[in-house]
Amino acid sequence: THTLPDKFPEDVRPVFDDSDASSYQRANASFVILCRNSDLGGTVRSVREMEDRFNRRYRYPYVFLNEEPFSDEFKEAISNLTPAQVEFGVIPHDHWYQPDSIDEEKATAAREKMSADNIIYGGSVSYRNMCRFNSGFFFRHPLMEKYKWYWRIEPDVHFHCDINYDPFTFMQQNNKTYSFTITMYEFEATIPTLWGHVNDFAKENPQFIAKNNAFGFMAEDGGAKYNLCHFWSNFEIADMDFWRSPAYTAFFEYLDAQGGFYYERWGDAPVHSIAAALFLSREQIHFFHDIGYEHNPYTHCPKDLDTWKKGRCSCQRSQSFDYDGYSCMNRWDRFMER
Ligand code: GDP
Ligand code: MN
Repeated sequence: THTLPDKFPEDVRPVFDDSDASSYQRANASFVILCRNSDLGGTVRSVREMEDRFNRRYRYPYVFLNEEPFSDEFKEAISNLTPAQVEFGVIPHDHWYQPDSIDEEKATAAREKMSADNIIYGGSVSYRNMCRFNSGFFFRHPLMEKYKWYWRIEPDVHFHCDINYDPFTFMQQNNKTYSFTITMYEFEATIPTLWGHVNDFAKENPQFIAKNNAFGFMAEDGGAKYNLCHFWSNFEIADMDFWRSPAYTAFFEYLDAQGGFYYERWGDAPVHSIAAALFLSREQIHFFHDIGYEHNPYTHCPKDLDTWKKGRCSCQRSQSFDYDGYSCMNRWDRFMER
């Protein structure tokens, strides 16, 4: 028999068997996994863990996206893991590939320089396509349009604890829009001009800046300097209506027009994070302290012993990245106490 933690409201309680799962009132939500056919093994492992730790009780659907068609082998291997709905989509050409407006000579020179400087993925075009797609397009994919909420998963990540409630419903009920498990410093060399463009955009568009926003978590010297803190976007549970809003649409278009996804190597993590910090109130950003999550090389493990036990977590609390020197968690805690 199962015991229910009683701190969860009735309708975010877990369901425990198949008959319950099919009648469970789900949020309008989906998992989204961007990957290649060659990521099959790691993707199977991530989905297997998600099913074991959460989704076998909730049956949220999955959307897989790729700039190439998924192979029959890939589809069969994934569909074999879950009774939930699984859809496989191809990304429209212009949502993925480098736009014609980019000066290819300038982009090539930038890649060569970053590659010579040993910046991670500095020489990669496909990585840049991926970052731009995750910044501005995944939520506009035809298979994603019908959903409001998403949970991003990557190949070869780990979910270390049982998740005994529904994070989507939790966010909906608590007026949360964006969430994270890990926050850290960005490599400055990948975003040398990003902060300047952010400030220009903010000055030109004061109507989009939220009251009680989280800008102070990232901005130093009265906004002049970026402390490089961002939410690690390989884990995200968020409301796509935010990415589809006039504020974020204008923000992404402004940044995209600067060309920095290709002339530099802007990541979707700082782009999403800075937008959340500017256009949301700080209470709309949620830290899922209770979700044990690992993406190589870092793990977030619940700090609270009781939470760790209830979740039957497989991570070590002493190894949690939260209070590593490279983590921004301390800054977040201090910021939220203010
Ligand atoms: P990292 O986490 O920054 O090291 O980057 P990853 O290599 O994990 O890529 C981030 C996400 O994008 C993962 O879900 C990858 O599977 C996916 N991804 C990266 N590059 C490509 C690509 O060229 N094509 C496709 N379809 N997916 C990609
Ligand atoms: Mn990754």
